[in-house]
Amino acid sequence: MATATFPRLLPKLIVFDLDETLWPFWVDTHFDPPFQKTSDGKVVDSNNDVMRIHKDVPAILKQIQDREIQIAAASRTDYPTGAKTLLKLYDIDQYFNYKEIYPGCKRKHFEKFHKASGVAYEDMLFFDDEARNIRDISKIGVTSIYVDYTVGLTVKVLEEGLQKHSEKKSKR
Ligand SMILES: [Mg+2]
Repeated sequence: MATATFPRLLPKLIVFDLDETLWPFWVDTHFDPPFQKTSDGKVVDSNNDVMRIHKDVPAILKQIQDREIQIAAASRTDYPTGAKTLLKLYDIDQYFNYKEIYPGCKRKHFEKFHKASGVAYEDMLFFDDEARNIRDISKIGVTSIYVDYTVGLTVKVLEEGLQKHSEKKSKR
């Protein structure tokens, strides 16, 4: 995959939705737990159906961490335990400094990130595939980027977000 280009002005925290942003399904409805990893490294549910992660995601998280930008997960799933298990099975759990995973308006998730990290909303960048979340979180001043759920998170979308955040910051 392509290496992302990072602008000069970087966010201090990047927040990702999980379902249909990092992986192409809803963890609470599309598969049957328990989930596990097979000997050949595939993540499967109890019916042996393969649960894929969007292919660029692990490398994207690594590149963000290498820039010393903090990373968080914000999910409204009804099955938090399943989502947390998947982060471990996909070997990406270690990238997340903060995780807020439970149903409800995402403003609550972001209040927790702000309290835990001390990062101002204007220094956060957020990716999500649902318009309602983009709306709620834009309102509090976070640069919020809509992710096409048919594609999920890609280097291109990450770069778009970084650029938009950088432009906003440079105007202040
Ligand atoms: Mg989603």
